[in-house]
Amino acid sequence: MTEADPILRPSGRRAVLIDGKAAAAQIDAAVRAGALELAAALGRPPCLAVVLAGEDPASQVYVRNKVRRTERAAMTSVEHRLPADISQDALMALIDRLNADEGVDGILVQLPLPAGLDASAVVQAIDPAKDVDGLTAASAGALVLGAPGLRPCTPSGCVYLARRALGDLTGRHVVVIGRSILVGKPAALLFLEADCTVTLAHSRTRDLPALARQADILVAAAGRPGMVKADWIKPGAAVIDVGINRVEGPDRTSRLTGDVDFEPALDAAGFITPAPGGVGPMTIAMLLVNTLRAAARRAGLPLPSAVADLGAD
Ligand code: NAD
Repeated sequence: MTEADPILRPSGRRAVLIDGKAAAAQIDAAVRAGALELAAALGRPPCLAVVLAGEDPASQVYVRNKVRRTERAAMTSVEHRLPADISQDALMALIDRLNADEGVDGILVQLPLPAGLDASAVVQAIDPAKDVDGLTAASAGALVLGAPGLRPCTPSGCVYLARRALGDLTGRHVVVIGRSILVGKPAALLFLEADCTVTLAHSRTRDLPALARQADILVAAAGRPGMVKADWIKPGAAVIDVGINRVEGPDRTSRLTGDVDFEPALDAAGFITPAPGGVGPMTIAMLLVNTLRAAARRAGLPLPSAVADLGAD
């Protein structure tokens, strides 16, 4: 890609919305078809174990949504709800049991864990074959090596949405803002795996607006509401807004908003994800894909074609 070959959109039009809800619904339906096919071969549906410790209201909502979507996709979901004062040893013992359970294909530990628990130790204890969040050292290592493995869900959703908007991503310049283990770093590696040229920016990056303006695909994952202004966006670029920020309005009601100053950005970007309604729904869709993938791999079977054909890798 050169400066003379920008991503063009029809002139005079506002940015095309990248509809994460529609993409996620399509993936959920494909996973359901794949799960039914796999269940016939396995003699049981693929199974996701969800571990939730404590009473954090946001975590409860996330878990409820994950369980509902898993079951709608014709997979089994087994919830393990634990008290906030559960000991580290008891939690580690549960992970050991789930690792050993032949009937469990994926293990998800809802984060954050209550204070006093070592979340990293818990996550790292998950069998990499069942690591549907893609957060273990083995999964991260496989991503760096370009080896098969389970990839983190939110960054996979970003690549999927970029492909949905632009098709083949080869040679595109991607600027990722944010270098967290959960989002920014794996997103950069996944776009690299898609043959993009990747710049990873963060809170210490110099002249971020100028850097962002070079991006064909701008991924905003800083957790800073409205940080990305319209003049940070190369005309016609694709903007993927990962941010989910709760902000208080003038009437003291709170609402969710992304990292991109959305309205003005509509006149600069060629394609843009709304937030909420863009990357958010994709995270669970990719969790379902990973659960299906884990179940197939553990049984030595190929990923069912309904999902393989989506190109959600
Ligand atoms: P984080 O706080 O762990 O990381 C933020 C990153 O942004 C850091 O690497 C930091 O260097 C960078 N950053 C912060 N301020 C910056 C600035 N002013 N300029 C440049 N870089 C800056 O957050 P996270 O877990 O990576 O999440 C990022 C955002 O994505 C949050 O809003 C979070 O809620 C959201 N998120 C959404 C989903 C989803 O499903 N859509 C999933 C995970 C996270």
